Amino acid sequence: MKSIDEVIEVFQKHGQKVTPQRREILKILVNNKDHPKAEEIYRILKNRMPDVTLATVYNTLNVLRDLGMIESIGVIGDDSVHYDPTTEAHDHLCCMRCKRIMDIEKKEPEVNFTQNEISGFQIVKRMVTYYGYCPECQKMLKTI
Ligand SMILES: [Zn+2]
Ligand SMILES: [Zn+2]
Repeated sequence: MKSIDEVIEVFQKHGQKVTPQRREILKILVNNKDHPKAEEIYRILKNRMPDVTLATVYNTLNVLRDLGMIESIGVIGDDSVHYDPTTEAHDHLCCMRCKRIMDIEKKEPEVNFTQNEISGFQIVKRMVTYYGYCPECQKMLKTI
């Protein structure tokens, strides 16, 4: 997701309404590196717009995902879906203690996945998650 204007353009092209609530959800998502859950977006939004419902948040996230503007991701040990506005291929670090998900910023050489077949499976996307402990949690674990 590059900018709110870009998303609004795609929304309009697909006949999707751009309500003030949806605009506010976009504001929360643009440049968001926290991989928030729907409930977390809802909590932030509720402070700004008390009338908003969780259903509106889910509905907007589904539309954004179906249009390829955000990615829904899951990690081991956490049943809830997280949303990632960075749709370019990138890998994640997941802290097993605080459950934070972080992006790995390092740029890897581009791999042509369509030519990369494993057991006859055509790979179109790759998302690797590394599990471990973030620096803060390592400190906490040492003091226990
Ligand atoms: Zn942690
Ligand atoms: Zn990410």
